[in-house]
Amino acid sequence: NVPVLELQNVSIAYDSSAGMVHAVNDVSLKIYENTIVGLIGESGSGKSTLGNAIMHLLKNNAVLTSGTIKVMGKDVYSMSKNDLRKFRWSQMSMVFQSAMNALNPVLTIEEQILDVYLSHDKRMSKKEAKKKAIELMDIVSIDPRYLKSYPHELSGGMRQRVVIAIAIALDPKLVIMDEPTTALDVVVQRSILDKIKEIQRVKKYAILFISHDFSLVSELASKVAIMYAGRFIEVTDSSSLDQADRHHPYTQGLLKAIPHLTAEDVTIEGIPGNPPNLVDLPSGCAYHPRCPHAFHLCKKERPEIREVEGRDIQCHLYETVQN
Ligand code: ATP
Ligand code: SF4
Ligand code: MG
Repeated sequence: NVPVLELQNVSIAYDSSAGMVHAVNDVSLKIYENTIVGLIGESGSGKSTLGNAIMHLLKNNAVLTSGTIKVMGKDVYSMSKNDLRKFRWSQMSMVFQSAMNALNPVLTIEEQILDVYLSHDKRMSKKEAKKKAIELMDIVSIDPRYLKSYPHELSGGMRQRVVIAIAIALDPKLVIMDEPTTALDVVVQRSILDKIKEIQRVKKYAILFISHDFSLVSELASKVAIMYAGRFIEVTDSSSLDQADRHHPYTQGLLKAIPHLTAEDVTIEGIPGNPPNLVDLPSGCAYHPRCPHAFHLCKKERPEIREVEGRDIQCHLYETVQN
């Protein structure tokens, strides 16, 4: 059983005037078919960088400094340009952050969808592609008459559905969704999430769902990777998230930051302090300047990954307490 996505010790840095920005640091993960894995972290923690890297669509100043990225067992970084072009969208696809505003304003929805089919399958007739476009609209619950519309004639929620439709047009095995609902209001957000769930159930995709919203991810995903300063400081089953203890201190902080709607008062507690500077990362555990549990070792040594009750946690607390 080959994982749909396999990340092995992946690190990515941007070359910037301020120095190397270490956006992703030594992350490993496997995602199998028919599973949704959430990727969560504060703004700037490296989520989009990782997503773009999987698609082999990093910015020009970014370098994969170490590790391998395999999709369906194939190393994405050792494919020829031509193979990669065929592989992208047909085997792996991505809903990019803010993608609904990136639809081509001068092309109709139909033209943009036909382009996906016709550019990947030279033998497909236009008639066949049009038929598929109608089916696709049906899957994302948009009236096919909107195929003749331009993006500005659609609401934000509909544009986002179109973007999702384009991502699944060729039935890829892996779909990366980068904050697919963030810009939308709560009601529209909910209907898009339900749609994603429904499509996933039918198509059995492996989905990497990127978000900064813990409550949303824990509802959708079976497993969650929590990213801090480019590292997966914890990878855990979502089901474990309703108990706040026995998690990484940063995870605990994020869990506390979820508004508790069941409580009498709705309280939202942010995590004090600022995200680290990725050019000059703090020594040892990168979380130590903000961690309420930090002790002498934290500043000196970086914690290794350790399995704690089925969770992969990078924190010295669990090493010392357990031994
Ligand atoms: P958000 O939640 O805001 O989308 P993110 O977790 O997706 O954040 P990334 O966009 O991956 O974060 O950025 C990770 C880090 O890399 C940030 O510190 C960002 O400033 C930096 N970065 C992103 N793109 C570039 C670039 N082209 N050149 C230099 N640094 C960059
Ligand atoms: Fe906090 Fe230390 Fe654990 Fe880092 S290693 S999370 S600083 S206790
Ligand atoms: Mg992002």
